[in-house]
Amino acid sequence: MKEKFIRFMAGRYGADQLSRFLSFAALALIVLNLFFRSSVLWILGIAALVCVYVRMFSRNFEKRRKENEAYLRMKNKLTGGIRNWTDRRKQSEDYVFVRWPRCRAMLRVPRGKGKIRVTCRKCGNAFEKKT
Ligand SMILES: [Zn+2]
Repeated sequence: MKEKFIRFMAGRYGADQLSRFLSFAALALIVLNLFFRSSVLWILGIAALVCVYVRMFSRNFEKRRKENEAYLRMKNKLTGGIRNWTDRRKQSEDYVFVRWPRCRAMLRVPRGKGKIRVTCRKCGNAFEKKT
């Protein structure tokens, strides 16, 4: 049985980070469905599960790899955004964060220093800010 399975999986894509995420999402949706009895949750859960298996048994490595990369990029963007936000919250006692309108760069300005001149790291423009 085990050998049969190994032979069956040969040349197939298998699991990756996106599959792991999808199987976790499927499980979460199906468990949520137990509490909320919503057919939408059930269908989404089953759909996610089907995606996991279709991707695992797929022979189109290139396409699956691209899907996984897109997922990882999205995930990094999201976790990076959350990390930036928590960092800024931690520092907000000592610093003020301002979005510099000209180039959209986020600048960190020390709090309670009166009127100071800030030079943007990104575009080099300076402006005055009361802190
Ligand atoms: Zn700038």
